[in-house]
Amino acid sequence: MEITCHFCFEKINLELFIEEGEKQDFIMDCEVCCHPLHITAEWNEEEEEFEVEVDAG
Ligand SMILES: [Zn+2]
Repeated sequence: MEITCHFCFEKINLELFIEEGEKQDFIMDCEVCCHPLHITAEWNEEEEEFEVEVDAG
């Protein structure tokens, strides 16, 4: 899936795996501007995909 960086607004590829949990909360650095992004993801059973929120890390 693609997320948008909170700082530079570039699109970054993010892979999430259900095996790692239905709720995930982690920090990753933007590949483009290297700012830390706070990712919160929650599995949506009906849509069968993660709902992801991005904010400043
Ligand atoms: Zn960025």
